[in-house]
Amino acid sequence: MKKLDNELVISKAKSIGFDLIGFAKAVELSEEIEKLNIWLEKKFQAGMNYMERNIHKRKNPKEILPDAKSIISLGLIYNTPFYHSNNKEFGKISRYAWGKDYHLIIWEKLEQLENELKSIDSDFKSISYVDTGPVMDKVWAVRAGLGWMGKHTNIINRDTGSWFFISNIICNYEFEYSETIPDFCGDCTACIDACPTDAIVQPYVVDSNKCISYQTIENKNEIPLELKGKFENWLFGCDICQEVCPWNKKFSITTSLTDFYPKHKEFTYSEIIQIDEETFKNKFAESPIKRTKLSGLKRNAKFLFE
Ligand code: SF4
Ligand code: SF4
Repeated sequence: MKKLDNELVISKAKSIGFDLIGFAKAVELSEEIEKLNIWLEKKFQAGMNYMERNIHKRKNPKEILPDAKSIISLGLIYNTPFYHSNNKEFGKISRYAWGKDYHLIIWEKLEQLENELKSIDSDFKSISYVDTGPVMDKVWAVRAGLGWMGKHTNIINRDTGSWFFISNIICNYEFEYSETIPDFCGDCTACIDACPTDAIVQPYVVDSNKCISYQTIENKNEIPLELKGKFENWLFGCDICQEVCPWNKKFSITTSLTDFYPKHKEFTYSEIIQIDEETFKNKFAESPIKRTKLSGLKRNAKFLFE
């Protein structure tokens, strides 16, 4: 007899702190993979070569967990009631990276949830990911009804906005599947109009080569000179397309998780230039900012201010 159902999973996930929970059937993602392949052909992944690998796993969750039946998609809000100073002397850090690294927080929550579900039914098998594996995390979030993909390609929920992290549990259990949410972008083009580098090349398509987030975090090389003067003081990541979105302006809610409260919100040029390796390691040990390494952070500061 089935010991787990939607209601039980939702109540466990909520008590652990997840804000959004949905269920999608583990099927092959033919249409979505076709779109991914077109995006890759255009080289919009820039230097993120890992996007080209394991396409078969991205397409079919059964390539990851052979008896996969469902994806439990989970959202965790990271928005806090704080803002950048907008003082031009400061380089801004993207909102998602103000506090503790979300991987550390979400891995712990996923482990707890999966353990609790396994303790109810020892036949429950699962593998979970927080944007680190070959999983189409946004696609599953949409299919599980967490929200719709906005024209800026982030997932938007009508009640909470788009400031949330997505994680997914692939599991061998069948559930009742969630209804998908229609696209409520309508005629709006606020994100496309506000993007200072025209990185949203068409609705729902971002060219990473032009995106400040990619350039300041993922790019391991120099930032292309044609982007100089266009970064609007973004030192690590970029929130512009989400900041201007009417759904975030009207409906975004904040988290009570103080781990996401700002420790690193903005820095002056001289603060960054003076940091040495030892200080960087200690200061950002538990921060997503460590991803760009000290050399990347200094490169970004020079690109913005020199
Ligand atoms: S993150 Fe910034 S640069 Fe990238 S698409 Fe959004 S507004 Fe444009
Ligand atoms: S700014 Fe407008 S077009 Fe862009 S994601 Fe938000 S609602 Fe959609």
